[in-house]
Amino acid sequence: MKPVRVIICGSKGRMGQALITSVKANPELQLVGEIDAGDDLSQVIDRCDVIVDFSFREATGKIAKLAAEHKKALVIGTTGHSDAEKNAVVETVKTIPCVWTSNFSTGVNTLFWITGKVASIVGPQWEIEIVETHHTAKKDAPSGTAKSLQQVIRQAIGKEAPAHALRIGDVVGDHTVTFGTSGERIELSHRASSRETFARGALRAAKWAVTQKPGLYDMQDVLGLK
Ligand code: NAD
Repeated sequence: MKPVRVIICGSKGRMGQALITSVKANPELQLVGEIDAGDDLSQVIDRCDVIVDFSFREATGKIAKLAAEHKKALVIGTTGHSDAEKNAVVETVKTIPCVWTSNFSTGVNTLFWITGKVASIVGPQWEIEIVETHHTAKKDAPSGTAKSLQQVIRQAIGKEAPAHALRIGDVVGDHTVTFGTSGERIELSHRASSRETFARGALRAAKWAVTQKPGLYDMQDVLGLK
């Protein structure tokens, strides 16, 4: 079978570098473009089957527009978008397969699932708060993953859970959801110790996306959890 041809956007960044290493190590994938700030995606886009974007929130709109114009599958890992930016991208990608998730790790997607279950069991009477910790160079706060956890809780029981952000050293990404009431507490934690876990998940999503009909998907779709 022919390898899936991939362009990485944000190629010089922490995630971009992890993705390039993973693509090169995977014979089912072929790296056909590395795009960072100042490079022109339109010059190389026709070489690829799928674009993987881990860049910056302001870049995603233009990348999505080009992907839609050239009918290329798109995987978005970038976080920190405003609601307006998010809505514009959702509208743009209607004609292509697009996987967009705040966190590509299998463990965090399991945390999303279990957080919804625990919230439904304890109900809105319990206090629920989220703490996330990341490296000091992270640009957005709270993290996209913390916002996804808030959304899971909102959908499960209609409760707003505050999210607190810590920026410390070189932490790759920790998330803890604490459920508490008088006399007891439940803590659910996930700790990522390597960016490889996100890269592996994003590339699994890239391989999956090129076989899908147009539509907006998340990692739960890729993992078959829906
Ligand atoms: P980073 O700052 O190390 O890298 C971002 C790169 O994007 C930089 O090299 C920057 O020059 C480049 N860039 C900026 N504007 C660009 C443009 N217009 N076109 C192309 N490239 C551009 O950041 P990072 O730690 O690699 O994270 C990148 C993004 O991915 C962040 O939004 C982060 O929150 C997100 N992230 C998501 C997941 C996930 O699983 N979804 C995991 C880790 C990080």
